[in-house]
Amino acid sequence: MKSYRKELWFSTNQRRELINITPAVEEALGKSGVQEGMVLVNAMHITASVFINDDEPGLHQDFEDWLEGLAPEKPYDQYRHNTAEDNADAHLKRTVMGREVVVAITEGKLDFGPWEQIFYGEFDGKRRKRVLVKVIGE
Ligand code: ZN
Repeated sequence: MKSYRKELWFSTNQRRELINITPAVEEALGKSGVQEGMVLVNAMHITASVFINDDEPGLHQDFEDWLEGLAPEKPYDQYRHNTAEDNADAHLKRTVMGREVVVAITEGKLDFGPWEQIFYGEFDGKRRKRVLVKVIGE
């Protein structure tokens, strides 16, 4: 069995951003040489997510509005976590949006359903954070 590990690094300009990381995952898959297997893609921070959905700007604004409705960033003092930190909302948003995805690899390609793309969801950005890509298979 082959295995390949790569870290993707991000430093967003805004506190919250959604970034399509599908091309970077495809590049890692190409380097792995795996034709049949699985790829795991996970956020390595508890205030960021990796998830699969549509690359459509209206939907991305809907995610932002929905998450702000569930766990508004402000006022900071509404959260017990925000004593030394101000990122309780980011922990909650990450939990809703998920930590990781697993995608099947078939004939050397990501075996997606229609419109599926992999996203990094940053909820407490403006600093260096990373995503793990782990490819296993033959
Ligand atoms: Zn925190």
